[in-house]
Amino acid sequence: PLLTIAIDGPSGSGKSSVSRAVADRLGIGYLDTGAMYRALTWWCLDQGVALTDEAAVVVAAEALPLELSTDPGDQRVVVGGTDVTAAIRTTAISAEVSKVATNTGVRPVLQQAQRDRMATISVATGGVVAEGRDITTVVAPDALVRILLTASEEARLRRRSAEVHGSADEAAIAATRDQVLRRDRDDSAVSQFTVAADGVVTVDTSDLDFDESVEAVLAVVAS
Ligand code: C5P
Repeated sequence: PLLTIAIDGPSGSGKSSVSRAVADRLGIGYLDTGAMYRALTWWCLDQGVALTDEAAVVVAAEALPLELSTDPGDQRVVVGGTDVTAAIRTTAISAEVSKVATNTGVRPVLQQAQRDRMATISVATGGVVAEGRDITTVVAPDALVRILLTASEEARLRRRSAEVHGSADEAAIAATRDQVLRRDRDDSAVSQFTVAADGVVTVDTSDLDFDESVEAVLAVVAS
């Protein structure tokens, strides 16, 4: 059977880096669904589509000219011929992406695109690790393995801060706190992380380093 693995979690849970490492170790493809919401946000801003114009954003989602690499070791995001791999990670996009993600017309469009991509990647590589906020519940509730990656707020702030500022000292954490907590709040309509859905295995990475987190997920996959 195809090894379909769904991983959800909040930002700073280690979701993206752990998911990529797991896909790499298993020799299967990888799908970063957050990158799709980010790419759509970038495209709307680039095309002058107001994010508050919900219908126009849905039209943009339906026509999004997106190329997303499936190799976990080489993640490249191209929209309309422009390489936006770095651009979609800026704080400007992070601050706006929830507006697109909470657009109720956009979600089914991207969710269906994600199911299609998961199927294509699985057939090509024998499986897929798809990560996001609603993969275990909405996009792929039938995945072979479903995992909720969690971490304490303190651990999440420490990691985000190290990622964004290259440091996890007091000042860097303070600078990150507002951003992370605001996005958690903005995303609360699309992500419920307090309780894992039925059949979803919770892996708490608060006290695990990166390698231990990867091993913990691989252990769930093997079980
Ligand atoms: O995972 P990442 O932080 O890159 O996700 C960016 C944003 O995309 C999230 O803050 C959320 O608003 C949205 N998202 C979503 N559903 C997913 C993945 C991401 O709504 N499956």
